[in-house]
Amino acid sequence: MEQNEIKELFKKNNALLNGHFLLSSGLHSDTYFQSALILQHPQEAERLACELAKQIKEKGIKIDVVVSPAMGGIIIGHEMGRALGTRAIFTERTDGKVSLRRGFCAEKGEKALVVEDVVTTGKSTKEVIDALAQYGVEIAAVVSLVDRSAGKIDFGVPRFSLLSLDVKSYKAEECPMCKEGGMPVKPGSRK
Ligand SMILES: [Zn+2]
Repeated sequence: MEQNEIKELFKKNNALLNGHFLLSSGLHSDTYFQSALILQHPQEAERLACELAKQIKEKGIKIDVVVSPAMGGIIIGHEMGRALGTRAIFTERTDGKVSLRRGFCAEKGEKALVVEDVVTTGKSTKEVIDALAQYGVEIAAVVSLVDRSAGKIDFGVPRFSLLSLDVKSYKAEECPMCKEGGMPVKPGSRK
């Protein structure tokens, strides 16, 4: 699938919106991505995972286990596990600490694929990588549906996404859309 095709698919499902948004970080942005709105369609989730899995296979990257952060990464991570024929596990945050729970574990030497719905600052991806460090697994690659950093974040491993966006975010006092008199909306909130 081409970038444009992916973009249109996200837009058609309201997963990718253009406008003037107040993000949970407090920043204002002209673009918002809500993966749940595309992933609520299992057929689309499966199709997108197959696209990412195809790239993994083409690059000859071997994967033993898919690991994604709860909540946002679970569905696409699970579909990636299906597409790659591996198990799919997830990390959770409790008391501020990210770890594997529920009896999930990874074996020393296993090759892990970290799967995110969207990479923005890379913080949650880094937390998953750190949580896996104690198991002695090798991080083989990081993939996401959307990369909001336009490839600027480096985890020191191969990394790719289906859609790369160079999203502009602004502090409220510097937001050009506010300067034009606009009011930001909180995505997902009821109007
Ligand atoms: Zn604004």
